[in-house]
Amino acid sequence: MDVLLHVCCAPCSVACIEQLREEGIEPVALWYNPNIHPFTEYRARREAVRAYMPAVGVSLIEAGDYGLREFLSALPDWENRCETCYTLRLGYAAQYAAAHGFEAFTSTLFISPYQDHGAMQRIAQAAGEQYGVQFLYRDFRPRFKAGQQAAREAGLYMQKYCGCVFSEEERCRQRHFAALRKKREAEADSKR
Ligand code: SF4
Repeated sequence: MDVLLHVCCAPCSVACIEQLREEGIEPVALWYNPNIHPFTEYRARREAVRAYMPAVGVSLIEAGDYGLREFLSALPDWENRCETCYTLRLGYAAQYAAAHGFEAFTSTLFISPYQDHGAMQRIAQAAGEQYGVQFLYRDFRPRFKAGQQAAREAGLYMQKYCGCVFSEEERCRQRHFAALRKKREAEADSKR
C-alpha cells in the first residue's frame, strides 16, 4: 500500500515508521508544518527531518516553507487554534495524497499523547472523504515513550514545545511561574 506519512518532526516519526514497516508498509514522508515558529525552530525541525529520512531510507517530500503569515491568517481564534492547525496539516496531507496517487495517508501526530487525538481523527477522516483518499488511522501512542527514547539516543533534535508561538509562550510562562514559585519557597525557607 502506498502511504503518505505526514511528519510533524523527526522524533515523532521514529516509532511511526517502525510500526508501519512492521505492518509491511513503506511510507513516503511529507513535511508540511506552517504552524512551527519562529523560523529558527522551523529550520531546526526541518533539518532534523531532512537528515533522518535518508538515514532510515524513507523518501521525503517537502511542501511549503516557513509559514508564519499562512498560519496566523488561518486562525479564526487563537484560543481554540489546535483544530485549525490539524485541519491545515491533515487537510494538506489528504489533498497531496489524493493528487499524487497515494492509496492512503496518515500522520506522526497520532503518536503524541499531548494532542487532541479524537479531534485529529475526526478531521483526518473528513479530509480523506473530501479528497477521496483513505485515511489510514493508527493509534501510535503506545510507542511514544520508546520512540522518544530512540530519538534521543540517535541524537535527533528534540523540540521543547508543540510548535506555534502560542505554545512557546505557554512553555515560557510555565517556566517563569515555576522559577518564581521556587524563589518564593526559598525565601520562605530562609526566614524560618
Ligand atoms: S499548540 Fe500545537 S497543535 Fe495547537 S496550534 Fe499550536 S502547534 Fe498546532
